[in-house]
Amino acid sequence: MMGSDLTKRIPCARCHRPGCTCICGLIRPIANQVELLILQDPQEATHAKNTAGLLHLSLINSHVMPSNANTPLDSGTLKEALYSGGKCPLLLYPPIPEAKSLGLLEPATPPAALPPEQLRLVVLDATWRKSRKLIYLHPLLQSLPRVALENPPPSLYLIRKADSENQLSTLEASCYALQRLEQDRVDYSPLLDAMREFVARQCAFRPAPNCVKND
Ligand SMILES: [Zn+2]
Repeated sequence: MMGSDLTKRIPCARCHRPGCTCICGLIRPIANQVELLILQDPQEATHAKNTAGLLHLSLINSHVMPSNANTPLDSGTLKEALYSGGKCPLLLYPPIPEAKSLGLLEPATPPAALPPEQLRLVVLDATWRKSRKLIYLHPLLQSLPRVALENPPPSLYLIRKADSENQLSTLEASCYALQRLEQDRVDYSPLLDAMREFVARQCAFRPAPNCVKND
């Protein structure tokens, strides 16, 4: 046994997970060239199977901004988060077929050939339904140039029931999009491997989520 039941429950100061589910050992520091901005639904932040925490802790150039789908963000705050440092934001999101009938703004044309250091990739860490809602609520997000993943590899993410056609976890989708925008100059495979381990641990914990298992 490693430590008492109490230490297993005390949240880790870095990843905020209870001791026995701490993911800090899985962090793989990666110097991403395109900055990542994660707009995170607060419910995701506390979800045991959420991958955005590992993503954010691993990517050196990443930020998380809490974004509740029921409360619109202040547009000044959102604008600052999107455009600070003179960066060009791109939204990772597939086309929305009913966008016109909903009266959503047209996404801007992606900029031609900007260096990765001038780009900021924006990802929505929320369920499919809530991510749509975030877009409906924020014209600033609607009008961002979009990046969509075409034919991504199958997901490593078997622990959470896919609630949508968006089958990839936030971590995977972000890594694949960054890879593309950076033209494969940064290696994300250590982080994808770390996610495999994260998934394996979650599966091992599944029958006993109250931390009775110990490695
Ligand atoms: Zn931790």
